[in-house]
Amino acid sequence: MDVAGGPGTGKGTQCSRMAKEFGFKHISIGELLREEMERGTLVGKECSEIMKDGKLVPLKLTLELIIKAIKAPNNSSGYLLDGFPRATNQARAFQKQVRAPTLVLYLHAPQQVLLQRLMQRGLIGGRTDDNPATIRKRFITFKKESLPVVAFYEKTSISVVKKVGPDCSDY
Ligand code: UDP
Ligand code: MG
Repeated sequence: MDVAGGPGTGKGTQCSRMAKEFGFKHISIGELLREEMERGTLVGKECSEIMKDGKLVPLKLTLELIIKAIKAPNNSSGYLLDGFPRATNQARAFQKQVRAPTLVLYLHAPQQVLLQRLMQRGLIGGRTDDNPATIRKRFITFKKESLPVVAFYEKTSISVVKKVGPDCSDY
């Protein structure tokens, strides 16, 4: 299952819950990239500036990380892809090289709420991209590149489930 949604919509939180409840394996591409950064690997070094700039890291790198995570021994009942694919070309490539998702879950909340959540998380620290300048860029990337992924899947036979939060006048 693909779990999509803008920055701060709670993809990670909901994936953790679903993984626990249904025995799925939670694959957070953002977390995998941050682990690479922490370990100071070549991939990590390549991605750190891109992530600080709120842009998308090259598909080749994320796809490699996802395939590695899927192939790692596990007895899960399925996979939750948290925050991937993030552009329609990524959705196409994943479908061709791995498989089509069985379901797409899209989370939506007002941008003002998302900003507040991300700023709050920024205070606790841990993520270099939870600062006002990067958050703004992440919103732009999301609207321009990632949101069209939902429309892309809606044109296929894959089920798309949308969860829109209350007071979403911007939806
Ligand atoms: N990212 C990416 N491709 C992915 C997933 C993540 O390029 O498939 C990068 C991108 O720069 C993004 C960052 O990793 O801004 C953090 O992603 P995450 O899903 O953790 O954060 P959020 O969606 O909450 O901004
Ligand atoms: Mg996340």
